[in-house]
This record gives sequence, C-alpha cells and structure tokens, in this order.
Amino acid sequence: MDKIVSLCKRRGFVFPSSEIYGGLGSSYDYGHYGVLLKDNIKQRWMSAMVQERDDIVALDSSIILHPQVWQASGHVGGFTDPLVDCRFCKKRFRADHLEDAQCGQRPSKRPGENDTCDLTEARHFNLMFETRVGPMEETGVPVYLRPETAQGIFINFKNVAGIARRKPPFGIAQVGKSFRNEITPGNFIFRTLEFEQMEMEFFVPPGEADEWYRYWVDERYAWHRRYGIRESHLRIRPHDSDELSHYSSATSDIEYLFPIGWSELEGVANRGDFDLTAHTSASGTKLEWVEQDGSRYTPHVIEPALGVNRSMLAFLVDAYDEEVVADRDRTVLRLHPQLAPVKAAVLPLIGKSEDMTGRARKLYEELRPVISVEYDDGGQIGRRYRRQDEIGTPYALTIDEQTLEDDTITIRERDSLAQERISIARAREHLLDRLAEPWSSPKDDAA
Ligand code: ATP
Repeated sequence: MDKIVSLCKRRGFVFPSSEIYGGLGSSYDYGHYGVLLKDNIKQRWMSAMVQERDDIVALDSSIILHPQVWQASGHVGGFTDPLVDCRFCKKRFRADHLEDAQCGQRPSKRPGENDTCDLTEARHFNLMFETRVGPMEETGVPVYLRPETAQGIFINFKNVAGIARRKPPFGIAQVGKSFRNEITPGNFIFRTLEFEQMEMEFFVPPGEADEWYRYWVDERYAWHRRYGIRESHLRIRPHDSDELSHYSSATSDIEYLFPIGWSELEGVANRGDFDLTAHTSASGTKLEWVEQDGSRYTPHVIEPALGVNRSMLAFLVDAYDEEVVADRDRTVLRLHPQLAPVKAAVLPLIGKSEDMTGRARKLYEELRPVISVEYDDGGQIGRRYRRQDEIGTPYALTIDEQTLEDDTITIRERDSLAQERISIARAREHLLDRLAEPWSSPKDDAA
C-alpha cells in the first residue's frame, strides 16, 4: 500500500487533506489525475447501468434530506458501530475489529493484550454526521449528511415510477457523496469520512427477487473484470445468516484482494420490501406499484452498491507494476485504457526542434477535443515515457526526424512497449480504434 500512496502523491492523484494544517485523518483530496480517473470510473459505471440498458434511469437526490427519512430507514436507531475505549491509553477501537487494531502502547500489541490495557464494554456509536438547517445554532433543525445515497432513491420511487414509463423490473441509479463518521478509519482511501457511492436500486415483482439478486451479483462481478481487475484478485462472498443486515434476506460482497487482505469492494443486497414499506408507513405516501388492472404490490429491491474511491483503490492496486527494462527500473500503472486519466501523450523527440514541436502541437490540438491527451516536450524522451507510464497513459505518439520526411509517427504501447509506425493523418482514427478494443491485464496473476 505504501508504494501506491507514494505514487498517488508524487503524481498528483491523491493528497492527504488539509496537509498544511497537519492533515485531517481519513480525508483525502484528489488532484488532476485522481479526478480524471474517478470520473472515468463513474462514467463507466453509469454507462453500464444506464446507457447500455433500457431498464434503468438516473437520479441525483439531495445530500441533506428530511430528518424523518433516517428515522424511517432505521439509520437513527441502528446505523452504529460497536466501540470500546481503553481507559489507559485513551484510544478507541471498533469492537468487531479488535484483531486488526493496534494498542496505543509500546510494545504495540492488540488492544487488551498489554497488562495495563483497560477496555470498556462495547458501546454503540452512530455513524451519521449531524448538522443544522437554519440561521441559529439553538433553533436550527437537526439534520444529517446522508450516510448512503440509497434512501434518496427510495423516497423518489413514486416520482420516478410515474414518469419513467417503465414497470418493474426497473432500476434507479445514482452517484454521489456520502458521509460516515467512521471512528477507526485508515488504509488510505479504502475507508474515509466522506466518499462517493454508485448505487442502483432495482425494483422487481416479489416473486422475481431471488433471480434478480443472482443476476446482479454476476453482472457486477463481470463489470470489475471487464475493466481489468484480475480474476485471481476478485471473489464473491455470500454473507452468513448472522452477518445479514436487518433489512436483507441475502447479501454478497464482491471482495478484492487489497494489500490489507480480502475486503469488501462492492455489496449486492436483496433488501426485500423493507425500505418502500418503511417509508410508506412513516410518510403516509404509498410507495407501491399499481398494475393496469388495479392490482397493487410493493416491489422488492436488489441493490448493488460500490464506493467510487474504493473502486479507484482496487484499480490502482491491480494496475501497479514494477519491472526492469534495459537495466532500468520502470513503474507502470497498467490501467484499462478506458479508465486511464490520459489516453495518449504527444511527444516531440527533440524538444528544441521547432519543426518537431510544431508538428506535435498540431497533432495535440487535433486530438484534444476527442480524447484526454497530453503534450510534453521537456527533458529526455526516456523520462517523458516513464512519467506517462507512471500515470498509466496507454499510448505515446512520438514525432521524430522521420515524421518530417514521410509524415509518420511512432505509437508506443505502455504494456508491451511495442512501437509501430503509423501515418500522422490516421493517428486519431487509429487511437480511437485501439481504445475501443477489449483489454485484459498483462500483469502476473500471482503478483
Ligand atoms: P464496510 O463493511 O467496509 O464498512 P459497508 O458494508 O458498511 O462497508 P455499504 O453500506 O454496503 O458498506 O456501502 C456500499 C459501498 O460503499 C461499500 O462496498 C464500499 O465500496 C463503499 N463504502 C462504504 N463505506 C465507505 C467508507 N467509509 N469509505 C469509502 N467507501 C465506503
């Protein structure tokens, strides 16, 4: 993980937040390439959910909702972590993760293992951030920052079902920020106080829920594979019955082998009719489906829920590679080309040659409106290639002496390092074709 953290900082993907003030634990800021990578992940998710299908529509609900939403959903009463405090070292731990925690004393052991450890009983601590709406601290109404995007979808079921011209099975997809006062956060962007979620609620006739649940587990697993996650590092883990949330009749985690071990990447849950029924009884608005013959039912819900930031971490970990080429170390991010922040770099071989830079800039201007592309004429060509390798740019286009003679350029492939000559006039078409090709990671499965 240290190598990923350092690459992310060095190349401007992710910075610790508020660093000039000493940092704020478990908050991160995303730099240029981090923003581009995150945007590509969200776009690929939205495309798979909405654009490539005709049974899912998009939604963007508010972060701050009516406080009764969280009463009805069970979050006010039950969205808690069990915590224990150590009266001696004053540290706080998650009672269900003590094996992974470190005691505040030296030598560092697990909480409770040093003679002086003095742990309290577990107490439940609500994860929702509370704030107030209204000008006055005393009179403002207490509200919450949403801890998940899903509830904004349930409370809009009637609005969307009325105008979406779709009958169950159909889904509503949403991407947006969520906030959780995680008390034992850590592990870089795996678990943070604020994060983005990509959640889709799929509403189905009750008798079809099991079948659709299995469908979405498979579908979501395939999405991670499609964008390059290696098979050896991805698995589906169905929850045991004692792990299931109160609302769920079945849940599977899609787990990734992070540097911290196998951990949840995405959750797929069969939520039954829990949410629509809870909001119907709390609000008095019937959230149900009415058939043309007047018969009615409350749809059941299948929910795939994935964190954008956690997904980005999985893609980065899976892509990170080191190798020695011609006696020199090379660090390379073998990202799926469709996820890569920059698709191609345009590089004049000799940065001081005006003929070459002129041709290169012209090509760069031509490509810019269609794909994310960078121009770089500073320093030795080898260093420029390496910089692009580190940010995962799949193609480098080099303008050299021969370009000036015959209008051809070289296209260098990040993964194989193969170089091919193509005509400059066809560069754009050639790149677009290559970017559309299926891709699988050339990285060693066991690495
Ligand atoms: P965990 O067990 O890791 O806390 P969870 O089961 O509480 O996760 P869900 O409520 O199912 O998580 O949220 C769906 C997805 O949102 C998770 O699979 C994860 O990808 C992401 N996610 C949840 N909490 C966080 C967080 N604090 N930071 C980053 N991503 C998160």
